[in-house]
Amino acid sequence: MPDKIKCTVSNCSYWESQLCKASAIEVNVDGGGNSAPDPQKTQCHTFQEK
Ligand code: SF4
Repeated sequence: MPDKIKCTVSNCSYWESQLCKASAIEVNVDGGGNSAPDPQKTQCHTFQEK
């Protein structure tokens, strides 16, 4: 597990000063499956609106 997860989603309740403070996160491929064609096709599903 990485020490730090950089994130730009500032309206998430786990977000603080450009970093994620959640103990774990879930990231999935946009549209399903388990192989992302490029970095833009993934997203964090642990997001929780502030
Ligand atoms: S839970 Fe996801 S969206 Fe929220 S701060 Fe962490 S990485 Fe960003």
